Amino acid sequence: MTMEKFRYFDAHTHAHFPVYGDEGETIIRRAEDVGVGLITVGTSKSTSADAVLFAEKHKHVWAAIGLYPGHTVPSSRDEDEYGISEKNDIIPAESFDFDFFKKLAESKKVVAVGECGLDLLYADTEEKMEIQKKEFVKQIKFAEEIGKPLMIHCRDLYKELVEILVANSRLPIAHPPVIHSFRGTTEEANMFLKLGCYFTFGGVITFPPKKNGILYADVIKEIPIDRLLSETDAPWVAPVPYRGKRNEPAYVVEVVKKLAEIKNILEETMRERILENTHRAFRIKF
Ligand SMILES: [Zn+2]
Repeated sequence: MTMEKFRYFDAHTHAHFPVYGDEGETIIRRAEDVGVGLITVGTSKSTSADAVLFAEKHKHVWAAIGLYPGHTVPSSRDEDEYGISEKNDIIPAESFDFDFFKKLAESKKVVAVGECGLDLLYADTEEKMEIQKKEFVKQIKFAEEIGKPLMIHCRDLYKELVEILVANSRLPIAHPPVIHSFRGTTEEANMFLKLGCYFTFGGVITFPPKKNGILYADVIKEIPIDRLLSETDAPWVAPVPYRGKRNEPAYVVEVVKKLAEIKNILEETMRERILENTHRAFRIKF
């Protein structure tokens, strides 16, 4: 079935990762059947190049290209992301290769730069933190140059990230960044809102809140509806009722349902608003 019109949009997913093996086409068909368009996101040179190839092959798939903070240092091979290999279980550190990504960005399917940002998990030394910051700044400049929004990954460093954004962007930011899987406080959300940023939320908002954990509903209630996007981050963090299973873009429907419930509006209204926001954030024409 060819999709005539989108009904949903998964703004951050990894549909091209080797974890899907031969089923890559099947999960795209299942997404099409419910009317889900999507952005498949790269994390390094090779996974970004693959994201573009995958997007070129599928009408309703777009790509984000960039360098994940975890790949600015050597990292152990994630088999979902890189496939199974017996001889090489360390992925070498990468530095953002401007020319390589510039070439990839020639594809009309490239709509964002990332996932890039800062992650405390990979910054156990001052030196590693400095490397992450330097690589992020390169991607801020790159996104500005190609006129696309950043697709930001950030863990526990929102304040530092905003400071870097403000210090290294031409303000106001012409193509406001998208904060993927936002897990900060309302105060932190406000810092990003001032810069015009968008927020994507995924499966984790459908889980019952943990004791002393993040109260997603409280934060989402405070974010204006025109700044909200939906995602899956598949293959990880599948929403309820698929929790614990391998995630896929078609499940974004459950995230939209939950967002509507939190915002106390009709699911149909939430769905339409998210499509409008997606169109505005990424200039994707539906
Ligand atoms: Zn991701």
